[in-house]
Amino acid sequence: MSIFNLFRKKKVEPKRIIDAKAHGLDPLFEDAARLVVQKKYLSMSFLQRKFGISYKRANRIADELVAAGILGPVIEPMIPREPIVREDEELYNLLAPLYPEINATHRAPLLGIGRLRIGTDGNGVTSLVAFHGCSLGCRFCLNPRCKDLDAEVRKLTPAEVMEEIKKDELYYIATKGGVTFGGGEPFLNSLFIKEVLDLGAKEWHVTIETSLNVPREYIEPLLPYIDEYIVDIKDMNTQIYESYTGKSNSQVKENLKWLVGQGIAERILCRIPLIPNYNNASDQETSKKELSEMGITRFEMFTYLIDKERESIRNKICKLKEEFRKIATRGIIDEE
Ligand code: SF4
Repeated sequence: MSIFNLFRKKKVEPKRIIDAKAHGLDPLFEDAARLVVQKKYLSMSFLQRKFGISYKRANRIADELVAAGILGPVIEPMIPREPIVREDEELYNLLAPLYPEINATHRAPLLGIGRLRIGTDGNGVTSLVAFHGCSLGCRFCLNPRCKDLDAEVRKLTPAEVMEEIKKDELYYIATKGGVTFGGGEPFLNSLFIKEVLDLGAKEWHVTIETSLNVPREYIEPLLPYIDEYIVDIKDMNTQIYESYTGKSNSQVKENLKWLVGQGIAERILCRIPLIPNYNNASDQETSKKELSEMGITRFEMFTYLIDKERESIRNKICKLKEEFRKIATRGIIDEE
């Protein structure tokens, strides 16, 4: 059976496909997937030119990309199609189960690795592995570098990350500490994190700092590995959440219910902020009540401290950069 039928007709999740070749994926599938995410569009003529292939083959590859949830469907004939997957890390999460060999060599973008932290994320000595990238647009982002396309990142393989954090292993074990994955949104790199932890972290306390606003498939592979989930809830009210982040919180609620259903409610700490201009103390309490009703027992209530002037400058710079990036991308498409 072809991969196309597996994805589309039997609704097999991409993560369950173990070997791309065994399922008849076109040998150019991986290259085409990377190309479409990098270029942010795809047309048949572009695929044909790029790989020197027939229209029929280009069409088949496009069908496979659609079936895998990487490329959007045809909206209008002759108009280039846009990818559904927009981030390299999201693409990696889809490709890694198909091509097991890319796990070891994949380099995730890191803002940095902070070592020998004491008194944060629970007891003990911890290292923080901070990822670049997040799909939310929080107005007062706590770490704007994670969304800055020009930010300096270190691209490391799982083995390189492990080599660095393992240096403090004795401290982790002696103090019941370990490693914390944060960012940005670390779950966008869930298979990468799994790869790191598989290299040997059995006695470490593993924490993840997340918004939980990611597809369930990103959370499931790490379930056996995570000792503590620190969830930045923002606000449980859908309108407040959307106006603050630009995205719905339905995935967050579904994921929380799913985690509680796994019998690990005590491992979840929900951080509920008071966000100036977006919610108030009563909204915080309402969020806490909704979460309690779900079965969550651990909370941290606090207030975001906002430097408004700096925030406004930062937002303007981000908008200008985004505009510039759109114009530059448009230019590349026009040239091609
Ligand atoms: S979830 Fe965190 S990293 Fe992402 S935009 Fe919001 S504050 Fe920033």
